[in-house]
Order: sequence, then structure tokens, then C-alpha cells
Amino acid sequence: PKTAYVRTKPHLNIGTMGHVDHGKTTLTAAITKVLSDRGTGTFVPFDRIDRAPEEAQRGITINIAHVEYETGTRHYAHIDMPGHADYIKNMVTGAAQLDGAILVVSAVEGIMPQTAEHVLLARQVGVDHIVVALNKADMGDPELTDLVELEVRELLSAHGYGGDTVPVVRVSGLRALEGDPRWTGAVEALLDAVDTYVPMPVRYTDAPFLLPVENVLTITGRGTVVTGAVERGTVRVGDRVAVLGPDIETVVTGLETFGKPMESAEAGDNVALLLRGVERDRVRRGHVVAAPGSVTPSRRFTARVYVLSGREGGRTTPVTTGYRPQFYIRTADVVGDVDLGEAAVARPGDTVTMTVELGRDIPLEPGLGFAIREGGRTVGAGTVTELL
Ligand code: GDP
Ligand code: MG
Repeated sequence: PKTAYVRTKPHLNIGTMGHVDHGKTTLTAAITKVLSDRGTGTFVPFDRIDRAPEEAQRGITINIAHVEYETGTRHYAHIDMPGHADYIKNMVTGAAQLDGAILVVSAVEGIMPQTAEHVLLARQVGVDHIVVALNKADMGDPELTDLVELEVRELLSAHGYGGDTVPVVRVSGLRALEGDPRWTGAVEALLDAVDTYVPMPVRYTDAPFLLPVENVLTITGRGTVVTGAVERGTVRVGDRVAVLGPDIETVVTGLETFGKPMESAEAGDNVALLLRGVERDRVRRGHVVAAPGSVTPSRRFTARVYVLSGREGGRTTPVTTGYRPQFYIRTADVVGDVDLGEAAVARPGDTVTMTVELGRDIPLEPGLGFAIREGGRTVGAGTVTELL
């Protein structure tokens, strides 16, 4: 039988990023090894991380490995992804909601194209804290490693990460995995840096309530019920809420989860909300129930979008300005006009900035992930960067 997760320490989501073969997966395995030796985690071998089961999210198949461990002060869910395209898809769609990241850079090779691209991506999706693991330090010449460190600090500064103060720890995932005390100590130092440098994120249960409507039903004699997962905040019976779409205000008169009444629901809960005096046909899937005044729907925004390649089930031909696909944003499905600006063309496999004008106003905010679909298949994955 499954045992319930007992929350004894604050929880954070982190992940490894960096160029292919710089040692992300090896380091992830080494972290679990070091912590299992300390008694606060379970060792997850390299093979188990690298052969993570594929998951489907918004019709995109993504590869993402979750490992879980505790340090002295925190509980972490740590994600590691096998390929560069997986980073782009997971980060832009918000499948990887990282509170902080470990940037893995080979001390031997230094910054490579995907190193720079992941830093850029992290900045765009709102990962505010990066700790650097200069990996393969067992092979790196110390003076060359100094140069690599300088280079990495410069790269981070160029993207607004305050490269002078970012912790940079020299590690060897491989040697730590083998149990070499010098390098297990280095992994401990890396974890200490993560514990102290990555702050606790603002808990989204404290944010104004928001629930994207998945379904609408009528309970005879009681009224209209909307169901969905609470995206953020909390809601209680008796709270005033706004229904965005029909733009009405009402009161929550009942709250249930899996058939059981509850007094209050919070972020992550799957709930049914009974809404006072709302006619059933006024609310639809795609509408949003939120704390009154907390969100202003809009329709124009810029976004960072990864155009899926043919191999990934996406398009085989480029996207151009004037393209009008469907945008899947939360539970909404809205048509949108794409403007690619000066670039004008985005080829399959490209990550581009675009301006989008949706067919109707919906609640939008920077960092919100979405999928772009056309003829029933997903052709792009994006994140809102700015509202216009
Ligand atoms: P990823 O693509 O970033 O996940 O990289 P991997 O973890 O798969 O490692 C790529 C290769 O580098 C493998 O052959 C590892 O054994 C090797 N490697 C990883 N970390 C180290 C390290 O700290 N020292 C040395 N010498 N080799 C390493
Ligand atoms: Mg890997």
C-alpha cells in the first residue's frame, strides 16, 4: 500500500541543466548516492534516471526524470532530462516548474551552445536562482578550470544572474558516484550551496485564488457546479469569486473534493465549486474562476515558443507571420494570430520569440505555459513572456 507523503520540511523543485554529456545525469545519481549514504534519500542509479518513462503533457511526449531527496533542511524534487529538446519543451510549457537550477558545466569543455541556451531559457521562464556545478573537475586542469569558472560567471551576469555571487562548486559526479570521499564532499558542498542560495519560493497557496474551469455541471436543486484543479491560492465556502469569460461575480456556496465536502481548498486540489445563482450555460470549460480583481484578461502578448520538429510530431514546414493556429492555454482553446516580427519565419526545431493576438481575452500572465495545436496535433510549446 502507498504511504502518504508526510510534509516535515519545506519542498522545492530543482533540476539539472546544461550541455549534453557534461554530466547532468551522473551528478543527479551522485547526489542521490551521497544523500542515501547520509540516510535522507534513496540511491537512484544512472540507468534508472536516464531511462525515465515518457509522459504525455498537452499532447507532447516529454522525457523527464523525477528523483526525490532530502537535505538537512529541505525536501527536493529534482528533475533531469535526457535531451536538449526535452529541456525546451519542459521548460517552456511549464512542465518543469523549477524553483532553482543546477547548471552543470564540464570543467574540461567549458561553455557549449546548450549551456548558453539553457541559461537563456531559465531566465525566460523565471528561474531566478542558479547554482553552478563545474563537473568533471577530476579531469580538469585547475588553471583551465579557473578560466571556465570566469567564463560561466560572465555568461550568468550577461543574463542577469549576478555571476559574481552565484555559487560555483567544483565537483566530479563520476568520482562521487564511485564513493571517493574527496568528491562526495564536493557534492555535499554543492547541496549546501543549493540549500542556502536558492530561497524558498513564494508559496502559491498565498496567491489570489485561481481555478481554470475543466467542466460544468448542474446539481438539481442546488445550482451550477464548476470543476477543476486549483492553480493557486485558497478558496473557502462563502468567498466571493469572479467568473472570467462571462465576467460575473458570485459566491462559492459549496466545495467538494472527490465527493467529500470541504471547508477550504488550496492550490493543487481537485475540486467542485458550487456557484450561487449562476446559470449553467453562462460558464464553459476554458473560463477561469478567480479572486475578484486579481486578474485582468487580455489577448496580446509576446511569447517564447519552441516549434516542434517533424520527428517530434510537429510540422515539417516553417511557420510564418500570419499563421493562425489554436492556442491551448490552461483549459482554454483559443485561435490566435502569430507575428514573427523581423525573423518572419520559424523552422521546425527553432525556438523563437513571437507576438500573439488571441481571438478573445483570457487571463494571461508572464510565465504561463501553453501549447500550439493545428489539425489535432501539437506543433509548438510556449511560454508567455510579456503582456502587450
Ligand atoms: P548528461 O548528458 O549531461 O546527462 O551527461 P552524463 O551524465 O550522461 O555523462 C556523460 C559522460 O561523462 C559519461 O560518460 C559520464 O561517465 C561522464 N562523466 C560524467 N560526470 C563525470 C565526471 O565528473 N568526471 C568524469 N571523468 N566523467 C564524467
Ligand atoms: Mg543525461
